[in-house]
Amino acid sequence: MSSERKRIVIIGGGITGLTAAFYLEREIKKNHLSAEVTLVEASPRLGGKIQTVHKDGYIIEKGPDSFLERKQSAPQLVKDLGMEHLLVNNATGQSYVLVNESLYPIPEGAVMGVPTKIGPFLTTSLFSFHGKLRAAMDLVLPASKPQEDQSLGEFFRRRVGGEVVENLIEPLLSGIYAGDIDRLSLMSTFPQFYLTEQKYRSLIVGMKKSKSGNAQKPAAKKKGLFQTLKTGLQTIVEELEKQLELTTIYKGTKVVSIDRGQDHYSLMLDNGGILDADAAVITAPYKAITSIFQGEDWLEGLEDIVSTSVANVALGFPEEAVEMNQEGTGFVISRNSDFSITACTWTNKKWPHTTPRGKVLLRAYVGKAGDESVVEQSDSEMIRIVLEDLKRIMKIDGEPEMSCITRWNDAMPQYHVGHQQKIKKLRDGLKTSYPGIFATGASFEGVGIPDCIEQGKQVVSDVLAYLFEQTK
Ligand SMILES: Cc1cc2nc3c(=O)[nH]c(=O)nc-3n(C[C@H](O)[C@H](O)[C@H](O)COP(=O)(O)OP(=O)(O)OC[C@H]3O[C@@H](n4cnc5c(N)ncnc54)[C@H](O)[C@@H]3O)c2cc1C
Repeated sequence: MSSERKRIVIIGGGITGLTAAFYLEREIKKNHLSAEVTLVEASPRLGGKIQTVHKDGYIIEKGPDSFLERKQSAPQLVKDLGMEHLLVNNATGQSYVLVNESLYPIPEGAVMGVPTKIGPFLTTSLFSFHGKLRAAMDLVLPASKPQEDQSLGEFFRRRVGGEVVENLIEPLLSGIYAGDIDRLSLMSTFPQFYLTEQKYRSLIVGMKKSKSGNAQKPAAKKKGLFQTLKTGLQTIVEELEKQLELTTIYKGTKVVSIDRGQDHYSLMLDNGGILDADAAVITAPYKAITSIFQGEDWLEGLEDIVSTSVANVALGFPEEAVEMNQEGTGFVISRNSDFSITACTWTNKKWPHTTPRGKVLLRAYVGKAGDESVVEQSDSEMIRIVLEDLKRIMKIDGEPEMSCITRWNDAMPQYHVGHQQKIKKLRDGLKTSYPGIFATGASFEGVGIPDCIEQGKQVVSDVLAYLFEQTK
C-alpha cells in the first residue's frame, strides 16, 4: 500500500454522494487506508432531492417519498446506519388509473402494466374487448430481433398494443420518469422487459414465470412494496451526515472546473478556493458535468440530455372535508385525459404515520415531458388548478388548512433512446483524459434511490481500485 495520503473529493451531497462517502469511510477504516475524503455540496443543505418537511403535525416529502424494498441497497443502507427500527412499509390498498373522467382499479397482477394474471385482466373495464384481444397477441407474437435500444413506447405497443399502453403502461411509467415513453430508452429504464421478451418471447408468459419464481410467502403477502422512515426520508441524510467522521464537508460551495496537473487534480471552487485531489467522484447532475469539462468532445450527446421540471402539491384537510367513493392509496392519470395533475397519492391512507389523526393528506403531482408550464404557476394558482382537478374525482369542501408546494426545475433526467451509449462515451472520455475522475448518480444508471445508493457503492470500489490496487 502506498504510504502517501490520498485525497478523494466527492462532488454533490445528494444520496449518491453521501452513500459514496459513507461506504468509502468504511473501507478506509477497515483496510487502514491512508486517505482523506472531502465532500463539496453546492447548496446550503445536504440531501439533494431528498427533503422532508414537518408542518402542522404532517410529515411531507418534498421530493421522493419512499424506495422499493426489493432493491436491497436502500434498506441495507438504513440497516448499516443502525436505523432499521425506523423502517416502515406502505399500507397496501387498491391503486387506480384515471382514464377520461373515471377511476379504474389497476388490475391485480399487472407488473408495470403487463398482465401476469389473466382473470383480473379479462374482467377489467379499463380496456375494450379489442384492446384485450390485442394484448393477448403477446402470447403468440415472435420476439423482436435483438437490438441495441428502442423506446419504451415502441416496445410495449408492439407487444401488447396501443390501448394497454395508453390506459395503463404510459401513466405508470410517467409516474416514475415524468417522461415521454416514445423517447425513453427501454435499455436504460427497464432492460428486464427486453430480456424477458428475448428469453420467453411472450412478456406475459415471461413475467408470470419470473413472478412465480419470486412469489412472496403467504405471511408476507400483505406487506407494501415500498419503504420509508417513520420520521421521513431526510432522517437518512441527517444520519449519514452525523456518521461521516473522516469526511470534511463544504456546503454552499460549487466545483466549477477541474484542472489536470502533473500528479494530481485541482478542483476550482466558486468561492475562489482550490481543492487538490488524487481522485474525484462527480455525483452532480449531468449539467454540472458539461459545465465543469466545457469543450471536451466526449461530452457530445450528454449536452442534449434533457431533464423535466415537476412539482408536487401536498394539501391537508380535516377528515370531514374530503369524501371519496373509492378505498385505496392513489391514482395515476392517462395522458389522454384532460387533467393538469399527473397523479395523486392519498398519503394518509398509503403512509398513515405522515398524517395527524382526523386529517387527510393528499399529494398531487404536476409536470411531465411536454407539459411543464404548470410548474411555473404561482402557489395560489397551482393550488386552484390541483383542487379543480381533484374535485372532479372526489368531494372536497372548502380550502385546504395546510399546503406545501415544491417545484423541481430540470430535476428528472430523461434517459432517452441511446442513453447508455452517451454515458459510455463520457466514461471512456474521463478514463482517457481525466483518469481517477468518476461520474455517477441519478443522471447515469437509475434515478430511484436504491439505484443511486447502488451507484454510490460501486464508485467506492472504482476509486479504491484506481488509487490503491496497483500499489497493493
Ligand atoms: C419530485 C421527485 C420525486 C421522486 N420520487 C422518488 C421516489 O419516490 N422514490 C425513488 O426511489 N426516487 C424518487 N425520485 C428520484 C430520486 O429522488 C433522485 O433520483 C435521487 O434522490 C438523486 O440523488 P443524487 O444524489 O444522484 O442526485 P441529487 O439528489 O440531485 O444530488 C446531487 C447534488 O449535487 C449538487 N451539485 C450540483 N452541482 C454541483 C457542483 N458543481 N458542485 C457541488 N455540488 C453540486 C446538488 O446541489 C445536489 O445536492 C424522485 C425525484 C424527484 C425530483
